[in-house]
Amino acid sequence: MSSIALSLLDLEVEENQCFEAEDYQTRVGKWCAGCGDFGALNAVKRLLAKEQLQPEKMAFVSGIGCSSRFPHYVNAYGFHGIHGRALPIATGLKLARPELDVFVVMGDGDCTSIGAGHWIHATRYNANMTVLLLDNNIYGLTKNQTSPTTPMGHKSNTSPRGAVLPALDPLQATLGISNASFVAQTADWVPAHLYATLQAAYEHPGFSFVRVLQRCPKFTPDVFLANVKDPDLTELLVHENGVDVPGLHQLYKSRRVHDPKDLDEARALAQRKDMLRLGIFFRDDNIPVYEEVRARTPVSAEEKVRRLNKEFDRYGV
Ligand code: SF4
Repeated sequence: MSSIALSLLDLEVEENQCFEAEDYQTRVGKWCAGCGDFGALNAVKRLLAKEQLQPEKMAFVSGIGCSSRFPHYVNAYGFHGIHGRALPIATGLKLARPELDVFVVMGDGDCTSIGAGHWIHATRYNANMTVLLLDNNIYGLTKNQTSPTTPMGHKSNTSPRGAVLPALDPLQATLGISNASFVAQTADWVPAHLYATLQAAYEHPGFSFVRVLQRCPKFTPDVFLANVKDPDLTELLVHENGVDVPGLHQLYKSRRVHDPKDLDEARALAQRKDMLRLGIFFRDDNIPVYEEVRARTPVSAEEKVRRLNKEFDRYGV
C-alpha cells in the first residue's frame, strides 16, 4: 500500500478570522511521552499564529519517520510522502504553486540517509521554503536503528556493539553545499530559541534549513542529556541578523557574537565540537530563489504543448 497521504483542511475558515495557536492543531500528536516532536509542533503553531497564516495558503510536506506525522497534526494542506522524498515533493509543489507557504519536516534517517541526494540538490536549488530536520540521532519509527547522525559508539538494534562510524554533521554538510542560503541549529528543550529560530527561518526568502536537536526518550535518551541538564555546555550564537533571545541570557551565559553573513566562520564553528552551538550559522537573503530563476524564462502553455508533441513525434511510427 502506498504511504503517500494527502490531508486536506479540517478548518472552516471565516473571513477576517483571527487564529490562535491551538486553531492550527487538528489532533493530539501520537508521539511517546516526552518526545521532542511535541515541542517542535508547539513552536510551529506559535509561528503560524504570529504570522496569522491562512490554513488554505500553506502546505506541510514530510517523508517517513516519527516526525513525519507532522502534516496530520497541522491545520493546513499536508502531504505525507515517501521515505527521503519530502524535498522533491515540496520543490515541485513550490514550483507549481509559488504563492503557498511551504514547510518541510524530516527526520535524520529520512533526510541524511535515503534522502541525502535530495537534501543536497534542494539546498542548491534554494526554493523558498522552511525546512525542519528533527534530528534525534536514531531511526525511531522503525524501532531503534543506527542513522547517519547516531553518535559513534551508541548501541542500537543494527549496531549492538555500538555505531562504528563518526556521526554525519548536518550543519557541516549543508554549509558545504553551493548556494546554501540559511543554516541554523536549535533544540526542542529551549522553546524560546526554537520559536525565534523558526521565525527567522520563515522570514528568510529562500531555503531555510533548521536542524532541531530533538529528544527521543525511547531510543536515544542520553544523547542530549548533558546539554539539557547543564546550560553551560551550550553556546548561543547571537547577532542582530541572527537570533538573540534576551530572556535566555540569564540561563545561557555563554554567548558568541557571530555575523551570519560570514560563511567561513560559520563553517569553522560548525566544525568545532568543544560546545553545542545554537543559532543562525549562515544566512544570505540575496541568493535568488529557484522559482524566480525558473520564471525568468517563461514558456507559454501553447509552446509547451508544441514541444511535447514534437518529442512524442520522435517516437511515432
Ligand atoms: Fe519520539 Fe522517539 Fe517515540 Fe519516535 S520513538 S515518537 S522520536 S520518543
